[in-house]
Amino acid sequence: MLKIILAQPRGFCAGVVRAIDIVEAALRKWGAPVYVFHPIVHNERVIDVLAKKGAVFVADMEHVPRGATVIFSAHGVGVRMRQAAESRELEVIDATCPLVEKVHAAVRRFDALGRRVVIVGHREHDEVQGTLGQISAPAHVISSAVEAGHVEIDGDVPLAFVTQTTLSSTDVREIVCILRARFPGIVGPDAGDICYATENRQRAVRALCAVVDIVLVVGSASSSNANRLLDVARAEGRPAYLLADGRGLQTGWFDGLRTIGLTAGASTPDDAVADVLAALARIAETEISVMAGPSETVHFKFPAGLAPMP
Ligand code: SF4
Repeated sequence: MLKIILAQPRGFCAGVVRAIDIVEAALRKWGAPVYVFHPIVHNERVIDVLAKKGAVFVADMEHVPRGATVIFSAHGVGVRMRQAAESRELEVIDATCPLVEKVHAAVRRFDALGRRVVIVGHREHDEVQGTLGQISAPAHVISSAVEAGHVEIDGDVPLAFVTQTTLSSTDVREIVCILRARFPGIVGPDAGDICYATENRQRAVRALCAVVDIVLVVGSASSSNANRLLDVARAEGRPAYLLADGRGLQTGWFDGLRTIGLTAGASTPDDAVADVLAALARIAETEISVMAGPSETVHFKFPAGLAPMP
């Protein structure tokens, strides 16, 4: 018998729900095709479903026909992408998560105040690219405590920092501590800009680790927050694996282990979790329970002119 305990909360956050609903609403309003700049969220299952309904995902604004409608993904875009859309006379629908937009606004504010910006995050991630693109002034990107300890910045320039929303809260605290020690005048949020969904899912995994032998994280390899859940479980001393759905399951993971903790990244749909549970049930008889944890009630407003599903 495999005992499976589901983390609470897990799976979709309010920003992901909003972004997916925006694409669905745009398809209802204008019909296919609707163009989306970058994957709307980092989950291939979600992308496949929307692509089948007529969403066309592009990595380059040049691939959107003049005058068409383009949706910006939940990760946000920089000013140059907005200008590129304008110059192609595109109708823009912005699905940037409002919590990412809050970080963008902070970067613009710090820049306007004459502060050099340090972005804590992964340079190649779409969110960090969008955050970097808010200002034309040079900004530093650091992704680890080691980099925070070595980054060369002119200490005479007033500094400010922001963070990617989906980092490990433990890593961010350590990095912020190092930045404050090295650059005493730097300003920014002590706990970083980690969003409520990232924080809640990481806290739930820590609680889960106290009662399970192994942790499975359902999510895409490209999902930052799913990868951080994996890091958190491993930091808590549990073997942990990331899998997109049931096909990624390996029976060898469970040798001698009987209690499995299961969580899902903020961009992972419920059906991917159900698929993993079904795959586990094919290995052995399973008993499923949900760990006590907070229910999330966060809801973000829809863009003007688009109606969510009634
Ligand atoms: S993970 Fe956080 S910042 Fe990202 S879309 Fe969800 S709520 Fe927004």
